[in-house]
Amino acid sequence: QYLPVDEEGRNEPRPVKGAIYCRVQPTPLADPQLVAASDEALQLLGLNPAQASRDEFLQLMAGNSLLPGMSPASHCYCGYQFGYFAGQLGDGAAIYLGEVVHPSSGARQELQLKGAGPTPFRRQADGRKVLRSSLREFLASEAMAGLGVPTTRAGSLVVSGSDSVLRDADYSGHPAPEPCAVVSRIAPSFIRFGSFELCKAADPVTQRPGPSPGMARTLLLPLLGYTIKQHFPGLWAFYGGGQDLTMAGMDEANVLDMVGDWYAEVCRRTAQLVAGWQGLGFVHGVLNTDNMSILGLTIDYGPYGFMDRFDQHHVSNGSDDAARYCYSAQPAICRWNCERLAEVLGSIPNPAAAAAAANADGAAAAAAAGGGGGASSSVLPPSRAKRGLQVYDEEMDAAYRSLFRRKLGLLAGPAEMAAGAKPAMPLENVQMLMMLAARDPAVLHALGVTQGSLQQQLAAHHAAAKWSSVSAADKAAADEQQWRGWLGRYRQRLQQEADAGVTAELRRALMLAVNPRVVLRNWVAQTAISAAAAGAYAPTRQLLALLRDPFSAEGDMGLLLPPAAAAAGGAAAAA
Ligand code: AMP
Ligand code: MG
Ligand code: MG
Repeated sequence: QYLPVDEEGRNEPRPVKGAIYCRVQPTPLADPQLVAASDEALQLLGLNPAQASRDEFLQLMAGNSLLPGMSPASHCYCGYQFGYFAGQLGDGAAIYLGEVVHPSSGARQELQLKGAGPTPFRRQADGRKVLRSSLREFLASEAMAGLGVPTTRAGSLVVSGSDSVLRDADYSGHPAPEPCAVVSRIAPSFIRFGSFELCKAADPVTQRPGPSPGMARTLLLPLLGYTIKQHFPGLWAFYGGGQDLTMAGMDEANVLDMVGDWYAEVCRRTAQLVAGWQGLGFVHGVLNTDNMSILGLTIDYGPYGFMDRFDQHHVSNGSDDAARYCYSAQPAICRWNCERLAEVLGSIPNPAAAAAAANADGAAAAAAAGGGGGASSSVLPPSRAKRGLQVYDEEMDAAYRSLFRRKLGLLAGPAEMAAGAKPAMPLENVQMLMMLAARDPAVLHALGVTQGSLQQQLAAHHAAAKWSSVSAADKAAADEQQWRGWLGRYRQRLQQEADAGVTAELRRALMLAVNPRVVLRNWVAQTAISAAAAGAYAPTRQLLALLRDPFSAEGDMGLLLPPAAAAAGGAAAAA
Protein backbone atom coordinates (compact mmCIF):
# COMPACT_ATOMS: atom_id res chain seq x y z
CA GLN A 1 0.00 0.00 0.00
CA TYR A 2 1.30 3.44 -0.98
CA LEU A 3 1.24 5.28 2.34
CA PRO A 4 4.04 7.77 2.84
CA VAL A 5 4.42 10.12 5.77
CA ASP A 6 4.10 13.90 5.41
CA GLU A 7 6.21 16.72 6.89
CA GLU A 8 4.39 16.56 10.20
CA GLY A 9 4.88 12.83 10.49
CA ARG A 10 1.22 12.04 9.81
CA ASN A 11 0.12 9.17 7.65
CA GLU A 12 -2.05 10.41 4.83
CA PRO A 13 -4.04 8.13 2.57
CA ARG A 14 -2.90 9.55 -0.76
CA PRO A 15 -0.30 12.30 -0.56
CA VAL A 16 2.48 13.15 -2.94
CA LYS A 17 5.53 14.92 -1.66
CA GLY A 18 7.26 17.31 -3.98
CA ALA A 19 6.27 15.53 -7.14
CA ILE A 20 3.75 15.97 -9.89
CA TYR A 21 4.43 12.70 -11.63
CA CYS A 22 5.89 9.29 -10.99
CA ARG A 23 7.69 6.90 -13.28
CA VAL A 24 5.67 3.74 -13.72
CA GLN A 25 5.61 0.76 -16.06
CA PRO A 26 2.44 -0.37 -17.83
CA THR A 27 1.19 -3.78 -16.70
CA PRO A 28 1.20 -6.29 -19.56
CA LEU A 29 -2.17 -7.25 -21.01
CA ALA A 30 -2.69 -10.95 -21.77
CA ASP A 31 -3.78 -12.01 -25.26
CA PRO A 32 -4.30 -8.51 -26.69
CA GLN A 33 -6.60 -8.04 -29.66
CA LEU A 34 -7.04 -4.91 -31.72
CA VAL A 35 -10.70 -3.90 -31.71
CA ALA A 36 -10.12 -0.80 -33.82
CA ALA A 37 -7.58 1.86 -34.66
CA SER A 38 -8.20 5.41 -35.82
CA ASP A 39 -5.98 6.07 -38.83
CA GLU A 40 -6.69 9.76 -38.57
CA ALA A 41 -5.63 10.01 -34.92
CA LEU A 42 -2.55 7.88 -35.54
CA GLN A 43 -1.52 10.17 -38.36
CA LEU A 44 -0.99 12.80 -35.67
CA LEU A 45 1.88 10.59 -34.52
CA GLY A 46 3.14 10.13 -38.06
CA LEU A 47 1.90 6.53 -38.16
CA ASN A 48 0.21 5.02 -41.21
CA PRO A 49 -2.51 2.31 -41.27
CA ALA A 50 -0.06 -0.37 -42.42
CA GLN A 51 2.01 0.21 -39.29
CA ALA A 52 -1.11 0.02 -37.16
CA SER A 53 -1.81 -3.49 -38.40
CA ARG A 54 1.54 -4.85 -37.19
CA ASP A 55 1.96 -6.90 -34.04
CA GLU A 56 4.54 -4.41 -32.74
CA PHE A 57 1.82 -1.74 -32.72
CA LEU A 58 -0.63 -4.01 -30.90
CA GLN A 59 1.91 -4.88 -28.21
CA LEU A 60 2.81 -1.23 -27.71
CA MET A 61 -0.80 -0.12 -27.44
CA ALA A 62 -1.58 -2.98 -25.05
CA GLY A 63 1.17 -1.85 -22.71
CA ASN A 64 3.24 -4.95 -23.41
CA SER A 65 6.28 -3.33 -24.94
CA LEU A 66 7.90 0.05 -25.24
CA LEU A 67 9.74 1.77 -28.04
CA PRO A 68 13.28 3.04 -27.55
CA GLY A 69 13.25 6.39 -25.80
CA MET A 70 9.92 5.91 -24.08
CA SER A 71 9.90 6.71 -20.40
CA PRO A 72 6.45 5.93 -19.01
CA ALA A 73 5.10 8.02 -16.18
CA SER A 74 1.83 8.98 -14.64
CA HIS A 75 0.75 12.44 -13.66
CA CYS A 76 -0.89 13.14 -10.35
CA TYR A 77 -3.58 15.77 -9.98
CA CYS A 78 -6.35 16.99 -7.72
CA GLY A 79 -9.85 18.16 -8.36
CA TYR A 80 -13.13 19.57 -7.23
CA GLN A 81 -15.58 16.71 -7.52
CA PHE A 82 -19.25 17.70 -7.57
CA GLY A 83 -18.48 21.05 -5.99
CA TYR A 84 -16.10 19.95 -3.26
CA PHE A 85 -12.34 19.89 -3.25
CA ALA A 86 -11.44 16.21 -3.13
CA GLY A 87 -7.67 16.56 -2.84
CA GLN A 88 -5.42 14.28 -4.83
CA LEU A 89 -7.40 11.86 -6.99
CA GLY A 90 -5.76 11.21 -10.38
CA ASP A 91 -4.14 9.68 -12.37
CA GLY A 92 -4.56 6.17 -11.21
CA ALA A 93 -5.39 4.76 -14.59
CA ALA A 94 -3.51 6.62 -17.32
CA ILE A 95 0.16 6.18 -18.15
CA TYR A 96 2.08 8.58 -20.34
CA LEU A 97 4.39 6.77 -22.78
CA GLY A 98 6.12 9.75 -24.30
CA GLU A 99 5.85 12.55 -26.80
CA VAL A 100 6.04 12.32 -30.54
CA VAL A 101 7.11 15.14 -32.79
CA HIS A 102 5.39 14.71 -36.13
CA PRO A 103 8.02 14.15 -38.82
CA SER A 104 6.60 16.72 -41.23
CA SER A 105 4.39 19.14 -39.31
CA GLY A 106 6.67 19.30 -36.29
CA ALA A 107 3.61 19.26 -34.02
CA ARG A 108 4.16 17.59 -30.68
CA GLN A 109 1.68 15.08 -29.29
CA GLU A 110 1.58 13.13 -26.07
CA LEU A 111 0.71 9.46 -26.20
CA GLN A 112 -0.80 7.78 -23.19
CA LEU A 113 -2.47 4.49 -22.34
CA LYS A 114 -5.63 4.44 -20.27
CA GLY A 115 -6.30 1.21 -18.42
CA ALA A 116 -2.76 -0.17 -18.63
CA GLY A 117 -2.63 -1.13 -14.97
CA PRO A 118 -2.16 0.51 -11.59
CA THR A 119 -0.05 3.56 -10.82
CA PRO A 120 0.95 4.87 -7.38
CA PHE A 121 -2.01 7.26 -7.66
CA ARG A 122 -4.62 4.56 -8.07
CA ARG A 123 -6.01 4.79 -4.52
CA GLN A 124 -8.16 1.67 -4.05
CA ALA A 125 -8.74 1.10 -7.76
CA ASP A 126 -6.96 -1.34 -10.06
CA GLY A 127 -5.85 0.91 -12.91
CA ARG A 128 -7.78 -1.19 -15.41
CA LYS A 129 -10.68 -0.23 -17.65
CA VAL A 130 -13.34 -2.48 -19.09
CA LEU A 131 -14.31 -2.90 -22.73
CA ARG A 132 -17.58 -0.95 -22.59
CA SER A 133 -16.14 2.22 -21.06
CA SER A 134 -13.05 2.06 -23.27
CA LEU A 135 -15.07 1.57 -26.43
CA ARG A 136 -17.26 4.51 -25.47
CA GLU A 137 -14.19 6.69 -24.95
CA PHE A 138 -12.58 5.50 -28.17
CA LEU A 139 -15.60 6.20 -30.37
CA ALA A 140 -16.60 9.45 -28.66
CA SER A 141 -13.11 10.93 -28.94
CA GLU A 142 -13.07 10.36 -32.67
CA ALA A 143 -16.71 11.38 -33.08
CA MET A 144 -16.05 14.68 -31.31
CA ALA A 145 -13.07 15.32 -33.56
CA GLY A 146 -15.25 14.59 -36.59
CA LEU A 147 -17.82 17.06 -35.30
CA GLY A 148 -15.13 19.72 -35.16
CA VAL A 149 -15.16 20.19 -31.39
CA PRO A 150 -11.76 20.22 -29.65
CA THR A 151 -10.99 16.91 -27.99
CA THR A 152 -8.31 14.50 -26.92
CA ARG A 153 -7.98 11.79 -29.59
CA ALA A 154 -8.03 8.02 -29.42
CA GLY A 155 -5.56 6.04 -31.53
CA SER A 156 -6.45 2.47 -30.68
CA LEU A 157 -8.70 0.22 -28.68
CA VAL A 158 -7.22 -3.07 -27.51
CA VAL A 159 -9.06 -5.74 -25.55
CA SER A 160 -7.68 -8.69 -23.64
CA GLY A 161 -8.73 -12.21 -24.52
CA SER A 162 -8.24 -13.38 -20.95
CA ASP A 163 -7.61 -10.57 -18.40
CA SER A 164 -10.77 -9.44 -16.70
CA VAL A 165 -11.86 -7.31 -13.74
CA LEU A 166 -15.00 -7.07 -11.65
CA ARG A 167 -17.09 -3.93 -11.95
CA ASP A 168 -20.78 -3.18 -11.50
CA ALA A 169 -23.15 -5.77 -10.13
CA ASP A 170 -25.52 -7.33 -12.66
CA TYR A 171 -29.21 -8.01 -11.99
CA SER A 172 -28.35 -10.91 -9.75
CA GLY A 173 -26.42 -8.52 -7.52
CA HIS A 174 -23.06 -10.06 -8.33
CA PRO A 175 -20.38 -8.26 -10.33
CA ALA A 176 -19.56 -10.22 -13.45
CA PRO A 177 -15.99 -10.37 -14.77
CA GLU A 178 -15.51 -8.08 -17.76
CA PRO A 179 -12.60 -8.10 -20.20
CA CYS A 180 -9.91 -5.45 -19.68
CA ALA A 181 -9.30 -2.96 -22.45
CA VAL A 182 -6.74 -0.26 -23.14
CA VAL A 183 -7.32 2.94 -25.09
CA SER A 184 -4.41 4.93 -26.41
CA ARG A 185 -5.06 8.64 -26.12
CA ILE A 186 -3.36 11.41 -28.02
CA ALA A 187 -3.29 15.14 -27.29
CA PRO A 188 -0.74 17.95 -27.18
CA SER A 189 -1.21 17.85 -23.41
CA PHE A 190 -3.38 16.19 -20.79
CA ILE A 191 -2.74 18.89 -18.19
CA ARG A 192 -5.98 19.78 -16.42
CA PHE A 193 -7.23 22.56 -14.19
CA GLY A 194 -6.82 20.00 -11.41
CA SER A 195 -3.10 19.69 -12.18
CA PHE A 196 -2.71 23.16 -10.70
CA GLU A 197 -4.69 22.22 -7.61
CA LEU A 198 -1.99 19.81 -6.50
CA CYS A 199 -0.56 22.20 -3.96
CA LYS A 200 -3.78 23.84 -2.93
CA ALA A 201 -3.13 24.82 0.67
CA ALA A 202 -6.68 24.56 1.88
CA ASP A 203 -10.10 24.59 0.38
CA PRO A 204 -11.78 27.90 1.29
CA VAL A 205 -15.09 26.17 1.98
CA THR A 206 -14.17 22.90 3.64
CA GLN A 207 -10.77 24.03 4.95
CA ARG A 208 -9.58 20.56 4.01
CA PRO A 209 -5.80 20.70 3.57
CA GLY A 210 -4.29 19.71 0.25
CA PRO A 211 -1.62 17.09 -0.02
CA SER A 212 1.39 19.30 0.20
CA PRO A 213 1.13 22.92 1.39
CA GLY A 214 3.84 25.36 0.52
CA MET A 215 4.98 23.79 -2.73
CA ALA A 216 3.37 26.30 -5.02
CA ARG A 217 6.73 27.84 -5.72
CA THR A 218 8.66 24.66 -6.43
CA LEU A 219 5.99 22.72 -8.30
CA LEU A 220 3.34 25.04 -9.66
CA LEU A 221 5.55 27.80 -11.01
CA PRO A 222 7.50 25.43 -13.26
CA LEU A 223 4.26 23.69 -14.26
CA LEU A 224 2.74 27.03 -15.18
CA GLY A 225 5.90 28.11 -16.97
CA TYR A 226 6.03 24.82 -18.85
CA THR A 227 2.37 25.02 -19.85
CA ILE A 228 2.72 28.51 -21.28
CA LYS A 229 6.11 28.01 -22.87
CA GLN A 230 5.19 24.69 -24.47
CA HIS A 231 1.56 25.21 -25.40
CA PHE A 232 1.19 28.98 -25.73
CA PRO A 233 4.63 29.78 -27.14
CA GLY A 234 3.48 33.07 -28.67
CA LEU A 235 2.60 34.47 -25.26
CA TRP A 236 5.78 33.19 -23.71
CA ALA A 237 7.96 34.79 -26.37
CA PHE A 238 5.99 38.04 -26.45
CA TYR A 239 6.46 38.65 -22.74
CA GLY A 240 10.12 37.70 -22.71
CA GLY A 241 9.97 34.23 -21.16
CA GLY A 242 13.38 32.60 -21.30
CA GLN A 243 14.67 29.13 -20.55
CA ASP A 244 13.79 29.27 -16.87
CA LEU A 245 10.36 27.69 -16.36
CA THR A 246 10.03 29.34 -12.95
CA MET A 247 9.94 32.74 -14.73
CA ALA A 248 12.44 33.94 -12.15
CA GLY A 249 14.32 36.29 -14.46
CA MET A 250 11.20 37.94 -15.85
CA ASP A 251 9.97 41.42 -15.18
CA GLU A 252 7.15 41.43 -12.59
CA ALA A 253 4.73 43.30 -14.85
CA ASN A 254 5.45 40.92 -17.73
CA VAL A 255 4.64 37.93 -15.55
CA LEU A 256 1.35 39.56 -14.57
CA ASP A 257 0.46 40.41 -18.16
CA MET A 258 1.49 37.03 -19.51
CA VAL A 259 -0.35 34.97 -16.92
CA GLY A 260 -3.36 37.27 -17.16
CA ASP A 261 -3.52 36.91 -20.94
CA TRP A 262 -2.96 33.18 -20.67
CA TYR A 263 -5.75 32.75 -18.14
CA ALA A 264 -8.09 34.75 -20.36
CA GLU A 265 -7.16 32.50 -23.28
CA VAL A 266 -7.90 29.37 -21.24
CA CYS A 267 -11.28 30.91 -20.36
CA ARG A 268 -11.96 31.76 -23.99
CA ARG A 269 -11.15 28.25 -25.21
CA THR A 270 -13.25 26.71 -22.45
CA ALA A 271 -16.24 28.86 -23.41
CA GLN A 272 -15.86 27.91 -27.07
CA LEU A 273 -15.69 24.27 -26.10
CA VAL A 274 -18.85 24.40 -24.04
CA ALA A 275 -20.72 26.30 -26.75
CA GLY A 276 -19.75 23.48 -29.13
CA TRP A 277 -21.13 20.87 -26.71
CA GLN A 278 -24.38 22.78 -26.31
CA GLY A 279 -24.83 22.86 -30.06
CA LEU A 280 -24.47 19.09 -30.24
CA GLY A 281 -26.64 18.28 -27.25
CA PHE A 282 -23.54 16.73 -25.69
CA VAL A 283 -23.65 16.27 -21.93
CA HIS A 284 -20.21 15.52 -20.51
CA GLY A 285 -21.46 14.11 -17.23
CA VAL A 286 -18.44 14.67 -14.96
CA LEU A 287 -17.34 18.29 -15.21
CA ASN A 288 -15.04 18.17 -12.21
CA THR A 289 -11.95 20.37 -12.36
CA ASP A 290 -9.79 17.30 -12.98
CA ASN A 291 -11.71 16.75 -16.21
CA MET A 292 -11.11 20.28 -17.51
CA SER A 293 -8.32 20.45 -20.07
CA ILE A 294 -5.99 23.41 -19.85
CA LEU A 295 -6.06 23.47 -23.67
CA GLY A 296 -9.85 23.59 -23.89
CA LEU A 297 -10.22 20.02 -25.14
CA THR A 298 -13.04 17.63 -24.33
CA ILE A 299 -11.33 15.24 -21.94
CA ASP A 300 -12.38 12.05 -20.13
CA TYR A 301 -15.36 10.42 -21.80
CA GLY A 302 -17.16 8.58 -19.02
CA PRO A 303 -20.93 8.67 -18.53
CA TYR A 304 -21.34 11.26 -21.30
CA GLY A 305 -24.40 11.33 -23.53
CA PHE A 306 -25.60 12.90 -26.74
CA MET A 307 -29.22 13.71 -26.00
CA ASP A 308 -31.79 11.60 -27.82
CA ARG A 309 -34.12 14.56 -27.88
CA PHE A 310 -33.95 18.00 -26.37
CA ASP A 311 -34.29 18.19 -22.61
CA GLN A 312 -32.48 21.05 -21.00
CA HIS A 313 -32.37 19.16 -17.70
CA HIS A 314 -30.90 16.06 -19.28
CA VAL A 315 -28.44 14.31 -16.95
CA SER A 316 -26.09 11.76 -18.48
CA ASN A 317 -24.39 10.62 -15.28
CA GLY A 318 -26.44 8.16 -13.25
CA SER A 319 -24.72 9.18 -10.01
CA ASP A 320 -25.33 12.91 -10.49
CA ASP A 321 -28.39 12.94 -8.26
CA ALA A 322 -28.49 16.72 -7.92
CA ALA A 323 -28.29 17.21 -11.70
CA ARG A 324 -25.24 19.39 -11.13
CA TYR A 325 -23.90 18.51 -14.57
CA CYS A 326 -27.12 18.53 -16.59
CA TYR A 327 -27.17 19.97 -20.14
CA SER A 328 -28.28 23.49 -19.30
CA ALA A 329 -25.84 23.75 -16.37
CA GLN A 330 -22.71 23.15 -18.44
CA PRO A 331 -21.89 26.76 -19.34
CA ALA A 332 -22.20 27.94 -15.73
CA ILE A 333 -20.38 24.91 -14.34
CA CYS A 334 -17.40 25.38 -16.64
CA ARG A 335 -17.30 29.04 -15.67
CA TRP A 336 -17.29 27.94 -12.03
CA ASN A 337 -14.37 25.68 -12.86
CA CYS A 338 -12.55 28.63 -14.43
CA GLU A 339 -13.11 30.49 -11.16
CA ARG A 340 -11.50 27.62 -9.27
CA LEU A 341 -8.53 27.82 -11.64
CA ALA A 342 -8.21 31.55 -10.97
CA GLU A 343 -8.32 30.85 -7.27
CA VAL A 344 -5.40 28.46 -7.36
CA LEU A 345 -3.38 30.66 -9.72
CA GLY A 346 -3.97 33.45 -7.24
CA SER A 347 -2.12 31.40 -4.66
CA ILE A 348 1.03 31.08 -6.78
CA PRO A 349 3.57 33.76 -5.87
CA ASN A 350 4.85 36.02 -8.61
CA PRO A 351 8.53 35.04 -8.74
CA ALA A 352 9.61 38.52 -9.77
CA ALA A 353 7.77 40.10 -6.83
CA ALA A 354 9.38 37.62 -4.47
CA ALA A 355 12.81 38.34 -5.90
CA ALA A 356 12.27 42.07 -5.57
CA ALA A 357 11.22 41.62 -1.97
CA ALA A 358 14.24 39.48 -1.19
CA ASN A 359 16.52 42.20 -2.51
CA ALA A 360 14.76 44.90 -0.54
CA ASP A 361 15.76 45.74 3.03
CA GLY A 362 13.68 44.61 5.96
CA ALA A 363 11.44 41.71 6.82
CA ALA A 364 8.29 43.75 6.21
CA ALA A 365 8.84 43.92 2.46
CA ALA A 366 9.62 40.21 2.29
CA ALA A 367 6.51 39.34 4.26
CA ALA A 368 4.34 41.59 2.12
CA ALA A 369 5.53 40.03 -1.11
CA GLY A 370 6.16 36.45 -0.08
CA GLY A 371 3.23 35.85 2.23
CA GLY A 372 1.30 34.14 -0.50
CA GLY A 373 -1.96 35.93 0.27
CA GLY A 374 -1.10 39.36 -1.08
CA ALA A 375 -2.93 40.13 -4.31
CA SER A 376 -0.07 41.96 -5.99
CA SER A 377 2.42 39.20 -5.20
CA SER A 378 0.50 36.45 -6.96
CA VAL A 379 0.76 35.57 -10.64
CA LEU A 380 -2.98 36.17 -11.09
CA PRO A 381 -4.40 39.02 -9.01
CA PRO A 382 -8.21 39.31 -8.70
CA SER A 383 -8.50 42.00 -11.38
CA ARG A 384 -6.94 39.67 -13.99
CA ALA A 385 -9.09 36.79 -12.85
CA LYS A 386 -12.14 38.98 -13.32
CA ARG A 387 -11.03 39.93 -16.81
CA GLY A 388 -10.64 36.25 -17.76
CA LEU A 389 -14.14 35.44 -16.58
CA GLN A 390 -15.45 38.38 -18.55
CA VAL A 391 -13.78 36.91 -21.63
CA TYR A 392 -15.50 33.63 -20.81
CA ASP A 393 -18.91 35.32 -20.73
CA GLU A 394 -18.31 37.24 -23.95
CA GLU A 395 -17.01 34.22 -25.81
CA MET A 396 -19.81 31.96 -24.61
CA ASP A 397 -22.38 34.46 -25.74
CA ALA A 398 -20.78 35.04 -29.13
CA ALA A 399 -19.95 31.41 -29.90
CA TYR A 400 -23.35 30.15 -28.77
CA ARG A 401 -25.26 32.72 -30.82
CA SER A 402 -23.19 32.21 -33.91
CA LEU A 403 -23.51 28.44 -33.72
CA PHE A 404 -27.26 28.33 -33.23
CA ARG A 405 -27.77 30.96 -35.88
CA ARG A 406 -25.96 28.77 -38.38
CA LYS A 407 -27.99 25.78 -37.25
CA LEU A 408 -31.06 27.73 -38.35
CA GLY A 409 -29.43 28.74 -41.60
CA LEU A 410 -29.17 32.37 -40.58
CA LEU A 411 -26.33 34.75 -41.19
CA ALA A 412 -26.45 37.84 -39.03
CA GLY A 413 -27.78 40.60 -41.24
CA PRO A 414 -26.43 44.17 -40.95
CA ALA A 415 -29.86 45.51 -39.96
CA GLU A 416 -30.13 43.03 -37.16
CA MET A 417 -26.65 43.83 -35.95
CA ALA A 418 -27.38 47.54 -36.01
CA ALA A 419 -30.57 47.02 -34.04
CA GLY A 420 -28.71 44.89 -31.51
CA ALA A 421 -31.37 42.17 -31.70
CA LYS A 422 -30.73 38.89 -29.92
CA PRO A 423 -31.55 36.05 -32.26
CA ALA A 424 -30.10 33.12 -30.29
CA MET A 425 -32.35 30.08 -30.55
CA PRO A 426 -32.41 27.15 -28.19
CA LEU A 427 -32.03 23.70 -29.68
CA GLU A 428 -35.67 22.83 -29.09
CA ASN A 429 -36.72 25.69 -31.34
CA VAL A 430 -34.71 24.12 -34.12
CA GLN A 431 -36.34 20.77 -33.62
CA MET A 432 -39.84 22.17 -33.42
CA LEU A 433 -39.15 24.28 -36.44
CA MET A 434 -38.17 21.24 -38.42
CA MET A 435 -41.35 19.45 -37.36
CA LEU A 436 -43.65 22.28 -38.24
CA ALA A 437 -41.81 22.97 -41.45
CA ALA A 438 -42.47 19.43 -42.53
CA ARG A 439 -46.22 20.15 -42.40
CA ASP A 440 -46.34 23.73 -43.62
CA PRO A 441 -45.67 24.44 -47.31
CA ALA A 442 -45.17 28.14 -46.63
CA VAL A 443 -42.35 27.38 -44.24
CA LEU A 444 -40.85 24.99 -46.73
CA HIS A 445 -40.94 27.74 -49.28
CA ALA A 446 -39.20 30.12 -46.90
CA LEU A 447 -36.61 27.47 -46.13
CA GLY A 448 -36.03 26.97 -49.82
CA VAL A 449 -36.45 23.20 -49.77
CA THR A 450 -39.01 20.77 -51.09
CA GLN A 451 -41.15 18.62 -48.86
CA GLY A 452 -39.34 15.52 -50.08
CA SER A 453 -35.84 16.80 -49.55
CA LEU A 454 -36.67 18.17 -46.11
CA GLN A 455 -38.18 14.88 -45.05
CA GLN A 456 -35.16 13.10 -46.38
CA GLN A 457 -32.95 15.35 -44.33
CA LEU A 458 -35.15 14.91 -41.32
CA ALA A 459 -35.01 11.18 -41.72
CA ALA A 460 -31.29 11.16 -42.17
CA HIS A 461 -30.51 13.67 -39.44
CA HIS A 462 -32.98 12.52 -36.94
CA ALA A 463 -33.89 8.92 -37.62
CA ALA A 464 -31.78 8.29 -34.58
CA ALA A 465 -33.50 10.90 -32.46
CA LYS A 466 -36.70 9.08 -31.55
CA TRP A 467 -38.74 11.73 -33.32
CA SER A 468 -41.88 9.70 -33.09
CA SER A 469 -42.08 10.39 -29.38
CA VAL A 470 -42.15 14.18 -29.90
CA SER A 471 -45.18 14.40 -32.15
CA ALA A 472 -46.83 17.81 -32.52
CA ALA A 473 -50.04 16.24 -31.33
CA ASP A 474 -48.45 16.09 -27.91
CA LYS A 475 -48.28 19.82 -27.80
CA ALA A 476 -51.11 21.97 -26.58
CA ALA A 477 -52.76 24.33 -29.06
CA ALA A 478 -51.43 27.34 -27.18
CA ASP A 479 -47.99 25.93 -27.50
CA GLU A 480 -48.38 25.60 -31.23
CA GLN A 481 -49.66 29.14 -31.42
CA GLN A 482 -46.45 30.32 -29.83
CA TRP A 483 -44.40 28.35 -32.28
CA ARG A 484 -46.30 29.74 -35.22
CA GLY A 485 -45.55 33.22 -33.94
CA TRP A 486 -41.91 32.31 -33.72
CA LEU A 487 -42.01 30.84 -37.20
CA GLY A 488 -43.45 34.07 -38.51
CA ARG A 489 -40.49 35.96 -37.09
CA TYR A 490 -38.12 33.34 -38.43
CA ARG A 491 -39.68 33.66 -41.88
CA GLN A 492 -39.17 37.42 -41.66
CA ARG A 493 -35.51 36.97 -40.83
CA LEU A 494 -35.08 34.56 -43.71
CA GLN A 495 -36.74 37.05 -46.03
CA GLN A 496 -34.43 39.84 -44.82
CA GLU A 497 -31.42 37.69 -45.52
CA ALA A 498 -32.79 36.58 -48.88
CA ASP A 499 -33.25 40.25 -49.77
CA ALA A 500 -29.64 40.79 -48.79
CA GLY A 501 -28.62 38.10 -51.28
CA VAL A 502 -28.44 34.91 -49.22
CA THR A 503 -29.44 32.09 -51.52
CA ALA A 504 -31.30 28.96 -50.48
CA GLU A 505 -28.29 26.87 -51.51
CA LEU A 506 -25.99 28.82 -49.24
CA ARG A 507 -28.43 28.47 -46.38
CA ARG A 508 -28.75 24.76 -46.91
CA ALA A 509 -24.99 24.32 -47.02
CA LEU A 510 -24.68 26.38 -43.86
CA MET A 511 -27.19 24.20 -42.03
CA LEU A 512 -25.79 20.91 -43.28
CA ALA A 513 -22.32 21.94 -42.12
CA VAL A 514 -23.43 22.32 -38.51
CA ASN A 515 -26.25 19.79 -38.17
CA PRO A 516 -24.70 16.32 -38.16
CA ARG A 517 -26.39 13.34 -39.80
CA VAL A 518 -24.56 10.95 -37.55
CA VAL A 519 -24.60 11.15 -33.76
CA LEU A 520 -23.10 8.69 -31.30
CA ARG A 521 -26.11 8.11 -29.12
CA ASN A 522 -25.81 5.79 -26.17
CA TRP A 523 -27.60 2.91 -27.79
CA VAL A 524 -25.53 3.31 -30.94
CA ALA A 525 -22.40 2.82 -28.84
CA GLN A 526 -24.15 -0.03 -27.05
CA THR A 527 -24.68 -1.85 -30.35
CA ALA A 528 -20.93 -1.76 -30.95
CA ILE A 529 -20.20 -2.76 -27.36
CA SER A 530 -22.45 -5.81 -27.47
CA ALA A 531 -20.91 -6.94 -30.73
CA ALA A 532 -17.33 -6.37 -29.53
CA ALA A 533 -18.03 -8.24 -26.30
CA ALA A 534 -18.97 -11.20 -28.48
CA GLY A 535 -15.76 -10.86 -30.47
CA ALA A 536 -17.23 -9.01 -33.47
CA TYR A 537 -15.28 -5.81 -34.10
CA ALA A 538 -16.73 -4.87 -37.48
CA PRO A 539 -19.56 -2.68 -36.06
CA THR A 540 -17.06 -0.61 -34.06
CA ARG A 541 -14.97 -0.07 -37.16
CA GLN A 542 -18.00 0.76 -39.31
CA LEU A 543 -19.24 3.25 -36.74
CA LEU A 544 -15.82 4.84 -36.53
CA ALA A 545 -15.91 5.43 -40.28
CA LEU A 546 -19.37 7.05 -40.08
CA LEU A 547 -18.47 9.16 -37.05
CA ARG A 548 -15.39 10.58 -38.70
CA ASP A 549 -17.52 12.18 -41.36
CA PRO A 550 -20.70 13.04 -39.45
CA PHE A 551 -21.97 15.84 -41.65
CA SER A 552 -21.87 14.08 -44.98
CA ALA A 553 -21.49 10.40 -44.13
CA GLU A 554 -23.12 8.15 -46.68
CA GLY A 555 -23.74 4.48 -46.94
CA ASP A 556 -25.24 2.01 -44.52
CA MET A 557 -26.79 3.91 -41.63
CA GLY A 558 -28.33 0.77 -40.18
CA LEU A 559 -26.07 0.93 -37.15
CA LEU A 560 -27.57 4.29 -36.23
CA LEU A 561 -31.16 3.07 -36.05
CA PRO A 562 -32.68 2.58 -32.63
CA PRO A 563 -32.86 -1.11 -31.68
CA ALA A 564 -36.67 -1.19 -31.99
CA ALA A 565 -36.64 0.38 -35.45
CA ALA A 566 -33.84 -1.86 -36.58
CA ALA A 567 -35.78 -4.88 -35.37
CA ALA A 568 -38.97 -3.67 -37.06
CA GLY A 569 -37.09 -2.97 -40.28
CA GLY A 570 -35.53 -6.39 -40.10
CA ALA A 571 -38.93 -8.01 -39.58
CA ALA A 572 -40.42 -6.06 -42.48
CA ALA A 573 -37.56 -7.02 -44.72
CA ALA A 574 -37.98 -10.64 -43.72
CA ALA A 575 -41.72 -10.49 -44.43
P1 AMP B 1 -13.07 10.39 -13.28
O1 AMP B 1 -14.22 10.63 -12.34
O2 AMP B 1 -13.38 9.40 -14.36
O3 AMP B 1 -12.53 11.66 -13.83
O4 AMP B 1 -11.93 9.71 -12.41
C1 AMP B 1 -11.18 10.41 -11.46
C2 AMP B 1 -9.88 9.72 -11.20
O5 AMP B 1 -10.10 8.45 -10.62
C3 AMP B 1 -9.05 9.45 -12.43
O6 AMP B 1 -8.26 10.53 -12.76
C4 AMP B 1 -8.21 8.28 -12.02
O7 AMP B 1 -7.01 8.69 -11.42
C5 AMP B 1 -9.05 7.59 -10.97
N1 AMP B 1 -9.56 6.34 -11.53
C6 AMP B 1 -10.69 6.14 -12.22
N2 AMP B 1 -10.82 4.86 -12.59
C7 AMP B 1 -9.73 4.21 -12.12
C8 AMP B 1 -9.26 2.87 -12.18
N3 AMP B 1 -9.94 1.91 -12.79
N4 AMP B 1 -8.08 2.60 -11.58
C9 AMP B 1 -7.38 3.57 -10.96
N5 AMP B 1 -7.76 4.83 -10.88
C10 AMP B 1 -8.92 5.17 -11.45
MG1 MG C 1 -11.09 12.00 -15.11
MG1 MG D 1 -13.12 8.91 -16.18
